[in-house]
Amino acid sequence: MNKRAANNSRKRAPTRRLGSAPSRLAVSAPLPKNVKVSFEFFPPKTEKANQTLWECIQRLAPLKPAYVSVTYGAGGSTRERTHATVYRIRCETDLEPAAHLTCVGASRAEIDDVARDYWDAGVRHIVALRGDPAEGEARYRPYPGGYAYASDLVAGLKKVAPFQISVAAYPEIHPEAKSAAADLDNLKRKIDAGASAAITQFFFDIDVYLRFLERARKAGITVPIIPGILPVMNFARVAQFAAKCNASVPRWMADLFEGLDDDPETRALVAASVASEQCRALNAHGVEMFHFYTMNRADLVFAICHILGVRAHPVAAGKVAAASPAKSAIASKGA
Ligand SMILES: Cc1cc2nc3c(=O)[nH]c(=O)nc-3n(C[C@H](O)[C@H](O)[C@H](O)COP(=O)(O)OP(=O)(O)OC[C@H]3O[C@@H](n4cnc5c(N)ncnc54)[C@H](O)[C@@H]3O)c2cc1C
Repeated sequence: MNKRAANNSRKRAPTRRLGSAPSRLAVSAPLPKNVKVSFEFFPPKTEKANQTLWECIQRLAPLKPAYVSVTYGAGGSTRERTHATVYRIRCETDLEPAAHLTCVGASRAEIDDVARDYWDAGVRHIVALRGDPAEGEARYRPYPGGYAYASDLVAGLKKVAPFQISVAAYPEIHPEAKSAAADLDNLKRKIDAGASAAITQFFFDIDVYLRFLERARKAGITVPIIPGILPVMNFARVAQFAAKCNASVPRWMADLFEGLDDDPETRALVAASVASEQCRALNAHGVEMFHFYTMNRADLVFAICHILGVRAHPVAAGKVAAASPAKSAIASKGA
């Protein structure tokens, strides 16, 4: 282009009014270097679901998560399956398993025995929760002779062995809490009882998390409060679940997923875009640890981790092999 043409094109360049909108995408910032991740799985119900879970673990293991946690069904409904999955992760992979344990449906002595078995099997990390009531039961009621609340469970576990303990935190307040302040007091009780980290309920608006973090720090809670990230595979189901857990679903999310109920491929692309933007924006605010609710599906989480600069490392030979009936049999023996 000659000088005159260049001048003309400069003159003709459309003048764009700059508003208050941010001029940079979160993903255009330099690739994060220090991000750490953890993954949450649920215990499978069927052999097919077991296969899906192990394919998921196999795909995500090379990302070297800090730990992988396994949930405990509402009302204690998955007790054996949770134990079997945790033991199998301990025995057959290089991953650090974290077992979710709840107060529901068991005496203190029974829970202490489970914890002792975990410790003897080499499980060092417990996610300690009060738990939700079993399906069909409207209200939580402490089990007679059991631990009543998560803070009691944390204290009990610490008497069994020096576990690393994580607990739940609620940026939008637990539905049964009397107030935001009472809920924060409860979180502090759990930390004072011996928990060394908190994982949050999922949220979509990053300001909700950042405001909560600020309140928690002001209340003297200094442990890591790790954001729980839920990539939205099924918007309708997540919206229903969110209503039960007091997690708000912003209007912009409903707009993004509108019309995609029968289009899972597009939904997955939108979900990856939303969650990676959320994580990169949090990272821009200094957040370096993320806990992913994987729903036992690897692809979205793998993509989001990639965008967060978390890359695959080789896995030791012989570890995290594909699921096979023989291995499942070993796992169920450990239950
Ligand atoms: C990261 C994460 C993982 C989860 N994993 C599971 C799982 O595997 N299995 C499962 O069943 N559920 C799980 N849940 C859900 C959890 O069990 C529910 O949210 C449950 O309702 C509360 O559990 P909590 O550990 O937060 O309870 P707590 O910390 O005990 O709090 C429960 C409620 O009681 C109030 N409270 C606490 N102590 C007292 C007291 N002394 N007196 C009066 N009120 C009190 C609190 O403010 C709060 O409203 C998980 C939640 C999160 C965020």
